[in-house]
Amino acid sequence: MSKNIAIDGPAGAGKSTIARMLAEKLGLVYVDTGAMYRTMALLCLRRSVSLASEEEVVDAVLQAEIRLGYEDGVQQVILNGENVTEAIRSPEVSAAASRVSVYGPVRSRLVRMQQELAKETDVVMDGRDIGTVVLPDAFLKVFLTASPAERARRRAQELRAKGESCDEAKIEAEIRERDARDMNREISPLKQAEDAERVDTTRMTIEEVVACVTALYQKKTER
Ligand code: C5P
Repeated sequence: MSKNIAIDGPAGAGKSTIARMLAEKLGLVYVDTGAMYRTMALLCLRRSVSLASEEEVVDAVLQAEIRLGYEDGVQQVILNGENVTEAIRSPEVSAAASRVSVYGPVRSRLVRMQQELAKETDVVMDGRDIGTVVLPDAFLKVFLTASPAERARRRAQELRAKGESCDEAKIEAEIRERDARDMNREISPLKQAEDAERVDTTRMTIEEVVACVTALYQKKTER
């Protein structure tokens, strides 16, 4: 029986940090699906594709070759032969990702890839629709949340640690805008699966969240 873990939630709730640590702890492969939507967004931005045009976006996305690889356990995304793992982390790409991800053919292409990956090996997969659409039969589903202010504070702290200056209020506004788009889109909107465990991380440390999700996983394993 597969032991896939699905982690969904809004932007900046700590999904990728938690998923990466859990994968390492439990010996599963971490799959960051947001990176795949970001890669398609980067492609569109570079080609000056109009993000408002479904036809143009879908055309570009269906022609692109995207691959996931691993270097020292860290997921790398390869777009048409180029490693774009760093390039997809800008605020412009974050915003564009939530715009290209509303289109059905973009989603179905990436969802198919994600389902194939989970068939090959047990994964911890994070995103917005993992528990609801990609892996509806996942062994454990977790919905991670935190208040928008706390999510913006964490993001700002990350940027400051990298020596970048930032405006926390602006970050919070961008996060709220992205959440609204992700929750209100027609296809596979961000929502908690009925059988997902909700974990509000606003007042929790990373270690506490990892311990909490590990306990949920172990409780299921013992059943
Ligand atoms: O998780 P991350 O912030 O990297 O995701 C970037 C964007 O990609 C999200 O705001 C969302 O629009 C989209 N996404 C999605 N479905 C997923 C993962 C990400 O629609 N499974």
